[in-house]
Amino acid sequence: MRRGLQSEPVRGSAPVCFGGGGPTAASASGRGGSASTSSASSLLSSRGWLTGGSKERRQAGRQASSFLTPSATMSGPGALAEMPRQFPRLSISEVDESVRLLAEKVFAKVLREEDSKDALSLFSVPEDCPIGQKEAKERELQKEMAEQQSLETAKRKKSFKMIRSQSLSLQIPSQEWKPPSATPAVSPPTPVCPGALQTIQGTYDVPEFQRVAINGDYCAGVSVDDYEQAAKNLAKALLIREQYCRLAYQRFPRTTAQYLCTMRNEKWKIEDEVVPDFHPPPKELQDPYNLDDSPGNLDYVFKMKEGVVLIYENKEMMENDKPWSLPYPDLQTYTLSLSHVLALIADGPTKTYCHKRLNFLESKFGLHEMLNEMSELKELKTNPHRDFYNVRKVDTHIHAAACMNQKHLLRFIKHTYQTEPNRIVGEKKGKKMTLKQVFECLHMDPYDLTVDSLDVHADRQTFHRFDKFNSKYNPVGASELRDLYLKTENHLGGEYFARMVKEVARELEDSKYQYTEPRLSIYGRSPDEWQNLAKWFIRHKVYSPHMRWMIQVPRIYDIFRSKNLLPSFGKMLENIFLPLFEATINPLDHKELHLFLKYVTGFDSVDDESKHSDHMFSEKSPNPDIWTSEKNPPYSYYLYYMYANIMVLNNLRKERGMSTFLFRPHCGEAGSITHLVSAFLTADNISHGLLLKKSPVLQYLYYLAQIPIAMSPLSNNSLFLEYSKNPLREFLHKGLLVSLSTDDPMQFHYTKEALMEEYAIAAQVWKLSTCDLCEIARNSVLQSGLSHKEKQKCLGVNYCSEGPEGNDIRKTNVAQIRMAYRYETLCNELSFLSDAMKTEEITALSK
Ligand SMILES: [Zn+2]
Repeated sequence: MRRGLQSEPVRGSAPVCFGGGGPTAASASGRGGSASTSSASSLLSSRGWLTGGSKERRQAGRQASSFLTPSATMSGPGALAEMPRQFPRLSISEVDESVRLLAEKVFAKVLREEDSKDALSLFSVPEDCPIGQKEAKERELQKEMAEQQSLETAKRKKSFKMIRSQSLSLQIPSQEWKPPSATPAVSPPTPVCPGALQTIQGTYDVPEFQRVAINGDYCAGVSVDDYEQAAKNLAKALLIREQYCRLAYQRFPRTTAQYLCTMRNEKWKIEDEVVPDFHPPPKELQDPYNLDDSPGNLDYVFKMKEGVVLIYENKEMMENDKPWSLPYPDLQTYTLSLSHVLALIADGPTKTYCHKRLNFLESKFGLHEMLNEMSELKELKTNPHRDFYNVRKVDTHIHAAACMNQKHLLRFIKHTYQTEPNRIVGEKKGKKMTLKQVFECLHMDPYDLTVDSLDVHADRQTFHRFDKFNSKYNPVGASELRDLYLKTENHLGGEYFARMVKEVARELEDSKYQYTEPRLSIYGRSPDEWQNLAKWFIRHKVYSPHMRWMIQVPRIYDIFRSKNLLPSFGKMLENIFLPLFEATINPLDHKELHLFLKYVTGFDSVDDESKHSDHMFSEKSPNPDIWTSEKNPPYSYYLYYMYANIMVLNNLRKERGMSTFLFRPHCGEAGSITHLVSAFLTADNISHGLLLKKSPVLQYLYYLAQIPIAMSPLSNNSLFLEYSKNPLREFLHKGLLVSLSTDDPMQFHYTKEALMEEYAIAAQVWKLSTCDLCEIARNSVLQSGLSHKEKQKCLGVNYCSEGPEGNDIRKTNVAQIRMAYRYETLCNELSFLSDAMKTEEITALSK
């Protein structure tokens, strides 16, 4: 395999400040007034992202593209075409400097006030009081009046109106898009016309339904300037995310990508779409544990430097320090992107705009539901064979160590005690212990055990007490039992745990329609962890067609460091990632791990998010090699280094025709809002996302980018947020891509079918319709790591297409009307952004 090798050092000459901890909350003293925010962010939009600048960079990237040659792809949709595999490196300009200062202010404010009540005042809106506070309202009114008097604004407004009425009739961007020559009709004065028919250019077949459309103004509720600024800022944030997703083989929705293309005056091509590759499950008579198909050794050498793996063609190149140029953003680029989005969430006009759009989305759904509920229901009633029970559902977020319910665990403990009391199960002070002796030591008789004395269920005591919750993983409060029953590494080689997981898998296989994505831990304490985990998987034959595995990395460097198990954060990253590179480059010598990785689809980052970190991540932060203090790095630092390594790994694996991994961290469960900003850049999808409730800008961005969110309201109810206050229903109505998941059935659920319990309670409390439930189930399959073939089986062969075209109602039981509504609504929101980009057109028109 030949490739044009580019041997420029990967890490840029970004100034790295050694020793210092970077600016902290104190040094970046910011009284972030909202007056300064708007000016900085208009600067932000003037960086030429949407015009020539980015295009040139892309072209440059295409020429420099070196790492990846299109090779044997797997069964993914859309073939891999040549694409720029280089991350355009950003360097700090004056403009960036001011954006960064603003971002630092936001960051500092969050750090300083994290625990106090008005921590989020900069970018959040109080629940009961919409943005229209008196002062803000007055300001808007004045602006509005000034604009009315300005002739130029009047012209611009008028042309926006014209563009708007055009895009209303051209909701779906087609390749032949041309602005119609006829002058558009004057918009009727009524602002809301529920039921007004609107011409939608669609190729799909949808039963008649009543559409909610707004006619009239360009975008009522905000002034022209604010609208333009907000739309540009949002488009830019989306472009940033698109880039981060593409280069890491993570997903970006097709509709949004199409609109971003039209904004750049480019043609969207299906070949350009980047999709992750998941290994298809073995066929029926195939052995899932076949170790003999490992490909050969590529003989590349690699090492980790400053927290990211570098790959070299051979030893000589390594000695000369000439690694491949790999497509990850260097620290400076990443922190700059991060500051752009951070500055954005505190930008006044953008906040107002997003808040209004989100409110509109919610009201619009309310109208849609009122008008079309019966038609949707009718569609479902005439749909043969399929109902809510037999649509495919995936439990998108569940921890393996708690994937069985408490009763199951109890039964299993009693069963082992009855059948094998004299089996040697452990050692204590060099003395072998039988199972019976273990229980004698704990002064208990398993016969007397009940779910109450087992005490693994979360209760009122765990609310806002993550520490107490963590101890619930210890049955009867005894860590010995946790080690024995819920771990993969112990005297029995994790046999008991494997047996229980397999019992759970068997139940899933029996129920046929449910899949699950349990997380297993890799801690990064030692490099052997991967090998041991793979051996556990194969020795106990844990594979099940209804399970796709995820790897969770707990953010507990500080604990290992304080026990002197690790010298630096860099070592922890090495332990986590180097074995994966070894197994990818030379699978022959790592057959077991190579096999296990076929069934792993992604990485998760887990721990208590409400833990406070006072380090502010910037390009001056110490790199992982010199992060030797006992302090835990902040959330965004963990995310960046996981993302960068996964990205390099994915590119390498793609080249070998192997499966790629998604990054799916826990995010937005509690703690700082900045977590959601980091995940916006780095994650394919997230778990929880509760805090999106607090930031209209982020929530709207998560909507536009259709970032999947696995929500677990029952888990939140025990830990962070009362069920009735959970935003799931609201998110679903607005059109965010939410799925339902269980998190920890052992701690939160009562029945054997934990996922069904989750659906049932949500349906009861929020009065969700069958169509709602099936939509959530469909989202869960989309979000999951099931392979392309399996998704086709679950959702229909066209599932990659957007809108009703991609929906097979016979498989998903989601009404086509609902799909059309969602699709057209998303197109409508995106068209607001692309309309604002037509500034030149507008200037021409207004002359
Ligand atoms: Zn979780």
